[in-house]
Order: sequence, then C-alpha cells, then structure tokens
Amino acid sequence: MAGVSLVCVPLVGKSVEQMLSEMATATAGGADVAEIRLDHLASFEPRRDLDLLLRNRPLPVLVTYRPNWEGGEYEGDDGWRFEALLLAMELGAEYVDIELKVAQEFVDFLSGKRPDGTKLIVSSHNYQSTPSIEDLSILVARIQAVGADIVKIATTAVDITDVARMFKVMVHCQGQQVPMIGLVMGDRGLMSRILCPKFGGYLTFAALSTGKESAPGQPSLSDLLDIYNIKQIKADTKVYGVVGKPVAHSKGPIIHGTAFRSVGYNAVYLPLLVDDFESFLSTYSSPDFAGFSVTMPHKEAALACSDEVDPIVKYIGAVNTLIKRPSDGKLIGYNTDYTGSISAIETTLQGKVPGASLADRIFVVIGAGGAGKALAYGAREKGARVVIANRTYERARELANFVGGQAISLADLENFHPEEGMILANTTSVGMYPNIHDTPLSKQALKSYALVFDAIYNPTLTRLLREAEELGVTIVTGVEMFVRQAMGQFEIFTGLPAPEKLMRETLLNFH
Ligand code: NAP
Repeated sequence: MAGVSLVCVPLVGKSVEQMLSEMATATAGGADVAEIRLDHLASFEPRRDLDLLLRNRPLPVLVTYRPNWEGGEYEGDDGWRFEALLLAMELGAEYVDIELKVAQEFVDFLSGKRPDGTKLIVSSHNYQSTPSIEDLSILVARIQAVGADIVKIATTAVDITDVARMFKVMVHCQGQQVPMIGLVMGDRGLMSRILCPKFGGYLTFAALSTGKESAPGQPSLSDLLDIYNIKQIKADTKVYGVVGKPVAHSKGPIIHGTAFRSVGYNAVYLPLLVDDFESFLSTYSSPDFAGFSVTMPHKEAALACSDEVDPIVKYIGAVNTLIKRPSDGKLIGYNTDYTGSISAIETTLQGKVPGASLADRIFVVIGAGGAGKALAYGAREKGARVVIANRTYERARELANFVGGQAISLADLENFHPEEGMILANTTSVGMYPNIHDTPLSKQALKSYALVFDAIYNPTLTRLLREAEELGVTIVTGVEMFVRQAMGQFEIFTGLPAPEKLMRETLLNFH
C-alpha cells in the first residue's frame, strides 16, 4: 500500500454550483478524490442535489455529512443524515464517511439495504490531542469492529513528536492489511499529511486553495503535488526539512524540493514546526529522517546536539545544517550561512575587480547575533580586518575579542572612514519587512565602502542597499546569501553538485 496514498480535495462550497465548479478545478489540479461535504451546503435537497453532484462526476467521491458534534456544520438529527448517506451510496458514491460515535446505528440502519460498491469510512476526530499508541490501537480495533472498510483517525498535534505515534499505528495497520487514514491536525501535524505514502496511509486531504481548508493544517493541492511531490513519496523516501519556529514563511521547501526533484533524488523536504529541538531529534531518530536545515531559534541547540562539527562552527556557536552520517548515524553539524555570505561577497567583489580579495580589507559587520558571528568569523578566515558595530556595545566587544577585531559603537560608525574600499555587512533586522523605511547606517556614511551587503532577504532591495546603489557602491543581497547557503545545504544533503541556476530562479520566482 505504501506509496499510493490518494489525494482528496474537500469541496466546501455553499451551493451545488460552487461544489461542481470546485470539483472541476480539483480534477484539473490533479486530485484523485473529491470529498462532498454536504454539511457545508446552505440548503440541501438530497435527491435533487446528490443527483446533480454525482451524475457525470469527473472524480471518485467521498460523501461526508459531518454533524456539529464532530466538528462539522450539520445541526439536525441523524435519521435525515443517514437517509442522505444511503442515497449517496445508492447513487454509486465510491466512499461514504460516518463518525464512529454513531457508526453502529448507521450500520444497523443500512442492514439489508447496503448497496455494493461503496466503501465505508468510519472516522474519529480528536480536536484536543493525540492519544498514546495503545489508545490509538484500541480506537483502530473499535472502528474495525463496527465493520469499517477504511479506518480514519484524525487527532491534533500539540507537539510535532505527536505525529510519530500516528505513523507507528499506520505502519502496524499496513502490516495487518487494514486500510487506514491517519492524520494529525494543526501546524505541528503537517508532516502527517505529506508523509502518508511513506507510512502507508490510504488517503490524505488537500485544500483546493489556501482559505478552503476543511480542517486545521491542511496543505493546498498544489503544494502537496508540486512542492512536496507527494506522488513520488514511497516507503524508502528520505525526509529532510527546515526546523524552526516559526517556519511557515520559509522558502526552504520550494527551493530544496525543486532541487531534489531536478536531480531525481528520492527525498522530500518539509517545514518542521519544532518547539523542543532535542526531543524532536530523539523522536525522529531513524536514518530516514536524514538531514535538516536549522533556523531560529534552534541554531544553538543544533550545535549542542551535534556529535561532530567543523571547528569554525564551534566558534560561530550556531549550526544551520545537520545531517545523520549514513555510516554510523552520528549527527554532523555545519554552518552554510558563513560560507554562503562570504562567497557571495567575494565573488561579487572579484566580478568588479578581478583578483580582488578580502585579505587585509576592513570588513565592518553591523550586528553581533547569529548572522553577525557567521560573517565576522568568515571574514576573519579570509584575512580581513574585522570591525564590529552593534546596538549593544558589550556584545560587539565580545565578538571583536573572539575574532581579533575592533569594536565600535553604532554612533561612531557614522563617521568611520579610515580608508577607502571597505566592506560593510548588515546582519541586523533593521530595514526588514514591514519596517522597510529603516536603515542601520545613513546614506552619507556609505560613501567610503566598496561593497555593501545586507543579510535581510525580505525585501530583496533594502533601503540600505538602494542608497548604496544610488551612490554607485556595489551591493550584495540577502537573497544571494540565502541561495548560496541553500546550495551548500543541498551538497551536504545529497553529495551532489547543487543546481545553482534552478535554485536561484526558483527562489526569485517565489520571492
Ligand atoms: P539575532 O541573532 O537575533 O541578531 C540580531 C542582531 O540585530 C543583534 O546584533 C541585535 O542587536 C541587532 N538588532 C536587532 N534589532 C535592532 C535594532 N532595532 N537596532 C539595532 N540593532 C538591532 O538574528 P540573526 O539570526 O543574526 O538574524 C539577523 C538578520 O539576518 C535577520 O534579518 C535574518 O533574516 C537575516 N539572516 C539572513 C540569512 C540569509 O540567508 N540571507 C541567514 C540568516 C539570517 P543587540 O545585540 O543589541 O540585540
């Protein structure tokens, strides 16, 4: 069963016409099944409307008439509901869903008149939490006992580690030949919706578009098919992802997913909303969870969890890339932020002045946080004379001491021009969306620099970079750094050369 999960789009229109139009869009978009949510219809006349919805349908349908006591919108009695579901079966619906709480009554109601050909999905929804493996297994047995053809259990992720329990139960069901839909709702449960082919899930739900979700955490159909490439996920597909909090905004899935696909690498890349890095790693310890990009606020925890790191990574104090070494499972930490940013700056400099180098140049870093440290150590490695300016002067001094550089205050930076041809790197969030009119240094002060770099990538052209460009100063954007750090990660993940042009274009197209 693994590797063939169906993708089902819930139709949530308020009228039959809207639902028919949604069904056409879902078909064109590549869905396998459409879920007709009868409880969403503002008015419902069963014989007329079911006939319209099921006649000439372009897709197999799952008919659901969810009552409000199970998270749906139907407020009437069960008798009416049961009649409508029976009618859907008589009209040939491929699947009908009934809630476990009333499943026995429904099965009794069908007795003697149940049409062949419709699969009965018996479902249980938990909007608070995800029970233990034992309790989930008991639930599976209860659902099977009422005569379900397919078991459906949807729970809620309080923590991303909750999903692992659902995966265990799904794998067990697969071994027993019990078709199961196992989903964990909410942002922290997203991976349950994407990895179901890997763990033998029968079906997963995808919203027709953002805003048309029928349950919390549902990805869109196009994300599932195009970004996560769900139709290619199999039992042996490796899992990578960006671990952070928040992560929903991350461009990692689109850039890495596209790159994996372009070289035929059997892997999926997910956003992983993680609260506790250590418990995440210990829960998903199997070799299949092969590597991670690490972003705020987990870069320091990733260093602490690494079994081995580059010496410079220790100095920087942050790991942004973590892989499990296939030979022994050890966690190896890297930092591609510093290689990405420094190579972006150096390459651009050499594009302007062939042979130019960072060695012996004054390299001013504004900021002393994670990115500031990466730039400062990277510049030092290249032999630059590093100067740190930071809002909190004490942190500037600490970092300057570490890299053998000089610390100055932000105010003094305004009149700091000991020589021409200096490099300036902003590593603070000053000027980042939505505060796009802010800048960390006046335009006047930019005149003494040969090159200005900004780590911010939203917007691409910050006020700092725009003003530097107006003065004829060479600029390097945070987008360039982002592409290069992602290329570094791709090479660490796959051992293959990164498809640079594709990764750059993908990022720019989705920026
Ligand atoms: P961080 O560790 O929190 O450090 C933030 C730094 O900015 C600190 O030095 C802080 O000064 C300073 N700062 C914050 N607000 C300020 C303000 N209003 N005025 C003056 N200084 C201020 O953050 P980070 O991880 O280094 O990230 C910093 C920036 O780099 C973010 O915009 C992030 O998006 C960007 N980044 C980009 C990439 C990329 O690939 N392009 C990669 C990593 C990071 P104090 O010490 O005084 O608090």
